Amino acid sequence: MIADTALWEPPMESRTWKYVVLHHSGMVEGNVASIDLSHRQRRDQFGSQWTGIGYHFVLGNGLGMPDGRIEPTFRWEQQLHGAHSGSRPHNLYGIGVCLVGDFETAPPTSRQLTATERLLEWLCGRFGIGRRQILRHADVAATRCPGRLFPYTELLDSIREPVAVAAGDHHDPMF
Ligand SMILES: [Zn+2]
Repeated sequence: MIADTALWEPPMESRTWKYVVLHHSGMVEGNVASIDLSHRQRRDQFGSQWTGIGYHFVLGNGLGMPDGRIEPTFRWEQQLHGAHSGSRPHNLYGIGVCLVGDFETAPPTSRQLTATERLLEWLCGRFGIGRRQILRHADVAATRCPGRLFPYTELLDSIREPVAVAAGDHHDPMF
């Protein structure tokens, strides 16, 4: 069980982050390696192969990865843009968080939800992301992700707003 938020601190200067975009994997079981493999088999609109898992964090459900385990991916370690939302600003400025599972058929585990809360609170505090910038994939693209059984409202209600937003930090006039 990872209990150390220091593991989430990027090992290099961080990108500008404005959103968190929540996903389910759509598969009953999985882990960073299995999602990475399936994303590498995809091609973008220009026919280029994806460079690997499109998310920044994956949260396990006990099937393929420990229940409640939070793993940053290479995109987080290298502070790369995401490939997860189907929306350019949300790929550029959105932290892609994927919970393993198919939440159309079953809800996330309680450990996954507790872990998600902890991660979201840390990300919001660290990068000055407000609760309204925690979005579902379905909020930015035509998809059902993260599934009808994902308890979005309850999750948001459980997140404390960041104590302070670093004014002027990472300001980007484009958006
Ligand atoms: Zn998604």
